[in-house]
Amino acid sequence: MILLPIYNTLILPNTRVYFQTEDFKEVTNHEPTQGSRVLFLMEKEKTAPEDLDENSFYPIGVRGEITEVNDQGYVAIETNNRVRLNDIYKVADQTFDFSLTRLNDIDDLDSATEAQKVEGIKEAILEFSENTPWGRDAKNFIQGFDSLEQMVVTASPWLTITNEERYHLLEMDSRAQRAEAIEKIMYEFSETAQVQNDAARAQQEDYRKLYKEQAIKKQLDYLQKELDDMHPENVTDIRRLQMRIEESGMNEDARKEAEKALNRLKQEGNNSPEYGMLYDYLDFMTSLAWRKEAPEKIDLKEAEAVLDREHFGLEKIKRRIIQQIAVMNLKKQQSGSILLFVGAPGTGKTSIGKSIADALHRKYVRVSLGGVRDEADIRGHRRTYIGAMPGRIVDGIKKSGVSNPVMVLDEVDKLSSSYNGDPASALLEVLDPEQNSTFTDHYMNVPYDLSDVLFVCTANTMDTIPEPLLDRMEVIRFSGYSASDKLQIAKKHLLPKAMESMGITKDMLEVPDPTIEEMISGYTMESGVRGLKNRLDTLCRSVAVHVEQDDDKKVTVLSEDLPELLDMQPIRHGRKLTETKPGIVTGLAWTSAGGEILFIETLFTKGQGKTIITGQLGDVMKESAQIAISIVKSMFPEKEELFEENDLHIHVPEGAVPKDGPSAGITLTTALASLVTGKKVDPTVGMTGEVSLRGVVSAIGGLPEKLMAAARAGLKTIYIPEENIRDLKDVPQEVKDQLQIIGVKEVSDVLKANHIA
Ligand code: ADP
Repeated sequence: MILLPIYNTLILPNTRVYFQTEDFKEVTNHEPTQGSRVLFLMEKEKTAPEDLDENSFYPIGVRGEITEVNDQGYVAIETNNRVRLNDIYKVADQTFDFSLTRLNDIDDLDSATEAQKVEGIKEAILEFSENTPWGRDAKNFIQGFDSLEQMVVTASPWLTITNEERYHLLEMDSRAQRAEAIEKIMYEFSETAQVQNDAARAQQEDYRKLYKEQAIKKQLDYLQKELDDMHPENVTDIRRLQMRIEESGMNEDARKEAEKALNRLKQEGNNSPEYGMLYDYLDFMTSLAWRKEAPEKIDLKEAEAVLDREHFGLEKIKRRIIQQIAVMNLKKQQSGSILLFVGAPGTGKTSIGKSIADALHRKYVRVSLGGVRDEADIRGHRRTYIGAMPGRIVDGIKKSGVSNPVMVLDEVDKLSSSYNGDPASALLEVLDPEQNSTFTDHYMNVPYDLSDVLFVCTANTMDTIPEPLLDRMEVIRFSGYSASDKLQIAKKHLLPKAMESMGITKDMLEVPDPTIEEMISGYTMESGVRGLKNRLDTLCRSVAVHVEQDDDKKVTVLSEDLPELLDMQPIRHGRKLTETKPGIVTGLAWTSAGGEILFIETLFTKGQGKTIITGQLGDVMKESAQIAISIVKSMFPEKEELFEENDLHIHVPEGAVPKDGPSAGITLTTALASLVTGKKVDPTVGMTGEVSLRGVVSAIGGLPEKLMAAARAGLKTIYIPEENIRDLKDVPQEVKDQLQIIGVKEVSDVLKANHIA
């Protein structure tokens, strides 16, 4: 007889049970054959087959016989009666000797009662199983049950009773008692199954509703979209905005804020002022690019070609830009150090910003900061404020249509602060790579990531840019163009562009070089080329009329045609003086339009020691004059009485800007020294430099422009502060070739060199 140990499995007399052939072999260590007799013994605890011993089993088991070993891998066993284990002895692993006594059930259950009980349980099971997916298939099977034992044995794998409870059923002698226990177990089973079933059904119901809702929504959206496509004019603002919010790619915060505004919009009537405000807000938010652009690797050669295509010269600047692009490539970043282009107007600062964008294949946007006084201009107004608007930065982003434009912030030197906050400090935040990934515009009220924006700033001067802002940026100087640079720029860029925009072709117009040179020297006064560009545009417009009137004649413009074609007289630049007197000295000034020369004139008139200052003199210049007087008095003590017996008149006839005052210090001192000593200064000598009370000369700005003006005016010898010698590298060579440039440390060096002291 094969011992078949079982655990947590219910076996009762007179039932049919199935085992997988493999399992059978494993637990019995026997090949199953039809007709073999089997003894089921229940283990007290789950034990591996080889570890089983005499004490592993409960004392009551069931005998059975293998009725079938089929090809599908099953062994069918029919049980007959229960047995008591009298003795058991382990011979080897999985091999036991035992002796058994047959146990008879007490048949105290009449068949009518049994049938009734069976029917009751069947009904309960059928009732809940009806609503389960398997219920219908199992119906016949369930109906086929005719004994309580078979029923509970079949349901055994799903019952939640323990191993002991199972054994307890087997232990019972009285069939009536056992029937009651089975009944209890089966009803419990059907109830819990019912509850589980109900819960599953309820949950299913919920899911079904959800799916249905989603499906309906999808369907609605689809139909609405069809309708919208058929009648775009009927799409409501709200729907349109809703769609735009969905498509915008906004981040979580922005979407929440936008949806809040949209919900408020839904509650407002079309005519309420609130509606307009909310509409504008949502329109703005959904027009902004929220998606990130992938960084693109830029071919440096190609970038160089783009920069060269649009701009003549500017070698140093182009080189710096290429370096920046190389670094951005290496770091796979879309932004890098913030460049500040400083230089006179029309030197190409803004337009090279555009070329950077072209070279990087990115969008370009220009934001002018000139005259910005309120913080709100940078950071936007809060929306509660009537007429609230976004700040210029995010507005620029919106205009660009992308999240990574090249943004040129023009005229950062023209920011000023007012009682409405300090725009410069707001700008600091924009330019700070640590902070600008969460830049919050007050109008938007949610952070926007500016970290992929490449900022380029421009300014005419660094003097008015607040120090902290300057610290953020890397200054690149645009020193202005020499006359020959300008000729090249005019020929290669400005004239062809002007002609193209007026529809003039090469066979209609010729402008020989001498004419362009005359335009440069006689009709513009600037270190940039904006004036030149305007003149060339005017020229082309005038020529267009001639060409129109006189079809096939080619117009060649000569210098003498310029006054008529440009509708202006040539400008007379300061030229060097041909004659001079003691007390007159040529200085160099720097204006926003470029460099100019100026003559400082001094004169004693009979009087009581007053000082009269006339001309375009600001406070700084007045101070410089006072310093000059003191220096000269101390250098020439014997001339002291001249100042007491006379009134001193100082005049600066032309063009000096108050800001540039200090750089005339050296000129003022020299003029006064010349006046008191009666010694003339050569009119081909020019000078620039700030002077301290001790006579020490210190550095000035705008050296290239000043030297260009000196060369143009025909000066020969120029004194500049020693400290500025290093800036000569920014001065065009042809200018340096025309001038003798001398660095000085003290004003007395100039006086000695000119035989005054
Ligand atoms: P800025 O910003 O310095 O005031 P812009 O960039 O507006 O000057 O330049 C004025 C005009 O001069 C533009 O049309 C620009 O294309 C042209 N320009 C300036 N520098 C150059 C150059 N080096 N080569 C070609 N064109 C130039």
